[in-house]
Amino acid sequence: MGRLQKILIPFLGLVLAFWFYSARDTFKPEMLRGKRVIVTGASTGIGEQIAYHLARMGSHILITARTEAKLQNVVRRCLELGAASARFVSGTMEDTAFAQHVVREAQTALGGLDMLILNHVGASYFGFFDGDVEHVRKLLEINFLSYVAMTTSALPMLKESEGSIVVVSSMAGKVGFPFTVPYSATKFALDGFFSSLRQEFTIQSINVSITLCILGFIDTERAVRAAAEVLRERPAPRDECALEILKGAALRRRELYYRYGSVRLPLLLRDCAAELLDYLVRSRYR
Ligand code: NAP
Repeated sequence: MGRLQKILIPFLGLVLAFWFYSARDTFKPEMLRGKRVIVTGASTGIGEQIAYHLARMGSHILITARTEAKLQNVVRRCLELGAASARFVSGTMEDTAFAQHVVREAQTALGGLDMLILNHVGASYFGFFDGDVEHVRKLLEINFLSYVAMTTSALPMLKESEGSIVVVSSMAGKVGFPFTVPYSATKFALDGFFSSLRQEFTIQSINVSITLCILGFIDTERAVRAAAEVLRERPAPRDECALEILKGAALRRRELYYRYGSVRLPLLLRDCAAELLDYLVRSRYR
């Protein structure tokens, strides 16, 4: 009986704790109504879908990318879907001055910022590392330094609103992936920067959440064109991925995994069976 109690009581405690935290953490679309949100890389792919979900939830949206004609269409669609407001700024994230300019635009047009969704990604190649150091430098500027620049500029507004930073990364930013060496390097850099920054926010009692999104293979045009023929797995839908990102952000999660089963579970092997994980990653390719 005594032994049973020793097991039963902690078990019941765990069940209650799980119930308490899961009941508290329920996503409701109203959480994002009226919120002022920047979405980068929103002319296509996952960013475009994030913008549409935000529009349905009634957010104020500021989107950015390079292609003005696509951004115009996304803004038009966001307004049709019910966005509280929608606007765009076009330009390239190769230029950190542009990254800062987008944030200033939020200050001017929206009067502040509740959520910064960093999602854009520069073009890279799919194949063995070709030794092109300049390409790595350029990709770091687009995929990493502009994220840092936007975060730095947006921080005063985010502190005021007790808002959120959402960083869209990849499984390739948590474990070594072949054929995408420069891309993986930029995604690992994001983890280092934002996970360290989160620690400093906690130490300084800064109530700005940082959600790092670890994504697997998603059915965006670019990804399917680059990898569908060589990857054995089927890509997950980008609209569902976009919604999961917003749920994780609204609930202020530290990390989000999509799809959970194909991303989180393999990552659990990282510390106890790294070589097995490396093998599993390699076996994803034909
Ligand atoms: P995507 O369809 O290629 O879209 C990329 C976006 O970034 C576009 O809006 C593009 O618009 C913009 N962009 C590209 N270069 C830019 C530049 N120099 N300056 C400013 N904007 C630029 O990408 P996605 O597949 O949706 O990926 C979105 C995010 O998810 C990325 O961070 C990616 O790493 C991550 N992710 C994707 C997958 C996947 O399988 N799809 C897997 C893991 C992680 P313009 O060309 O008009 O500038």
